[in-house]
Amino acid sequence: MTQRFDSEVTTVCGYCGVGCRLEAHVRDGRVASISPALDGPSNKGHTCLKGRFAHQFSRSRDRLTEPLIREGDEFRTATWAEAIDRIRAELTRIKATHGPDAIAGLASSRGTNEECYAMSRLMRAAVGTNNIDNCSRVCHSPTSWALRKSLGLSGATGSFDDIEAAQAAIIIGANPTEGHPVVGARIKQATLRGLALVTIDPRRIELSDYAVLHLSPRPGTNAAVMLGLAHVVWRDGLLDHDFIAARTEGFDEVQELIATYAPEQVHEITGVPAADIERAAHVYGEVDRASILWGLGVTEHLYGSEVVRLICNLALMTGKVGRPGAALLPLRGQNNVQGSSDMGALPDTYTAYRSVADEDVAQAFERAWGEPLSREKGYTIPQMFGAAVDGRLKAMYIFGEDVAQSDPNTAHVIKALESLEFLVCQDIFQTETTRYADVVLPASAFLEKDGTFTNAERRFQLVAPAIDPPGNAKPDLEIIQMVSRALGHEMGYADSAAVMDEIAALTPEYAGVSHARLGRRGLQWPVAADGTDSVILYRDQFELPGGRGRFAALPYKQPGDAADQEFPLVLVTGRRLQHYNAGTMTRRTGNLQLVDREWLEIHPDDAERLWIEDGQRVSVRSRVGRIEVEARVTDRIEPGHVFTAFHFPEVRTNLLIGSSADVNTSCPEYKVVAVDVRPMAEQPAFTPAVPEPALI
Ligand code: SF4
Repeated sequence: MTQRFDSEVTTVCGYCGVGCRLEAHVRDGRVASISPALDGPSNKGHTCLKGRFAHQFSRSRDRLTEPLIREGDEFRTATWAEAIDRIRAELTRIKATHGPDAIAGLASSRGTNEECYAMSRLMRAAVGTNNIDNCSRVCHSPTSWALRKSLGLSGATGSFDDIEAAQAAIIIGANPTEGHPVVGARIKQATLRGLALVTIDPRRIELSDYAVLHLSPRPGTNAAVMLGLAHVVWRDGLLDHDFIAARTEGFDEVQELIATYAPEQVHEITGVPAADIERAAHVYGEVDRASILWGLGVTEHLYGSEVVRLICNLALMTGKVGRPGAALLPLRGQNNVQGSSDMGALPDTYTAYRSVADEDVAQAFERAWGEPLSREKGYTIPQMFGAAVDGRLKAMYIFGEDVAQSDPNTAHVIKALESLEFLVCQDIFQTETTRYADVVLPASAFLEKDGTFTNAERRFQLVAPAIDPPGNAKPDLEIIQMVSRALGHEMGYADSAAVMDEIAALTPEYAGVSHARLGRRGLQWPVAADGTDSVILYRDQFELPGGRGRFAALPYKQPGDAADQEFPLVLVTGRRLQHYNAGTMTRRTGNLQLVDREWLEIHPDDAERLWIEDGQRVSVRSRVGRIEVEARVTDRIEPGHVFTAFHFPEVRTNLLIGSSADVNTSCPEYKVVAVDVRPMAEQPAFTPAVPEPALI
């Protein structure tokens, strides 16, 4: 019998935080096809069209295959020795002249845990600064902050299995069938088996068709919705008094606050009918097992972190946490957005969110790494760009991030990149960001990686390389170690398993994690030294001093960028099923044939008032920028709101986003941008940003 494939490798999807386990089938050094792992704990034999089909990018002809060094306005190919030596010379010069804090690094939520940990070590131990951050800053940092404040740990309280175990669920500010499709499918199936679903989003999402109720609050009013739900639960006797008394603190203050958020008042703020607020509260409050899921529609706001605390309030007052079916499930965006922060690629914490100022923790890392370590907090991503513009930051090392495309206030980001004396990018393609680099290092894609990712269930899962990086591209862990060695700090890891052994030895929450132990199910942290993991958190107590969950009495506050006469519509941004973030990978696959351009969704009433026709090109102007895009007239969006994604660089949606950010975490306010939309007279011909993939 002819062998169809040369090898088959089990790995984990590199797109979203669901963490589907995949079987990659390899022939002639290429991924020939991908199928779902039947025993994948989060996907249970399913994938979406990104995980299953969007892999051709890995052999796209424009993959970076050699190091590049800037000479004038051009790049020339270089050897690895030349590129590493250039990085050594420039970082050493800048450190000697301006000090280590003039250098900053970004780790990537696309990278493995081991790569993110090594990147953090590179900045802390080899360079000598805590200026390290990752892209969770611009998505779920509010979730992390709020969960730690309210419950103790920065992760989902349960697993996706809680979707099937629940009798009711609320989804707020997330569109799982597009952003997290396998979870979206699990929710659909659960509703068909009786799950009572409430969707809350300014835009009617696909799952709204499966819900018992959909609420469309005005963008930026999620806090009022949550306070209204809490009011009804309190008013109508749906509280769990025993749970509140035995396991929480601070309810009296919250009770006083929520008393002032009657559904009629909430209707005034949100536009949601009072009766719908009441019904939604009863759907959630009347059953024994109910869960809440949320996404970036909650977090990417001026008060996103406060809304997550209000979500926690609702769960605490009804005792719906720490049991099967009663879970708080943030839907994490990128494949390893949970892990990149867990691993300490943050300016203020080592692994498991332990402060850089904690003397015992810092000393443990000093002993392990053999270098003195700073106790001062480093820069967050927005602070890095600010410091670059005002001259305090001279160099950046950006691993796996296209900040010039995906971060807000694009003009400011570009100014920051242009202001740097030296920029290193480690990536798989030339991007909007690498245009400003002095050295570009060719890196590895997820199908070429070795190590672990941590999905949105806190689950460490093994990632195995199906194919080699193309040409002279290298695995990222190897590159980071080469740079560190050149800077005089030898990390000495033989492989990614050795990195995980060190992480486990230095981090009580991951004490029992090792590659050998992960197997096909993975392990959900915390993992005890004997390998016992934690499917459900907080069964008996919360991970806070005293073991009690903490209520937060936080009132509704106005969003940062409210609509006015000059900018009368509110833009909400999000993802589309076929593409992923900046589109760097999915635009180089057959998915481009499914969706080959960006568009702006606008309600028929607004379109008629503005003389905009379906398919017409429009100008969208905010207080900080302007873009041009095609309009699509649809009643999926509420009047007064418009929606677009950010997958196509020729549209550059993030030019519209200003510098407004979450008050506690600096997560940008992507979700509420006041805009003015006008028809354009001319209709320039459309050219896709990246042509269909030419394979190497
Ligand atoms: Fe699963 Fe997300 Fe990958 Fe789709 S993109 S296969 S839902 S991990």
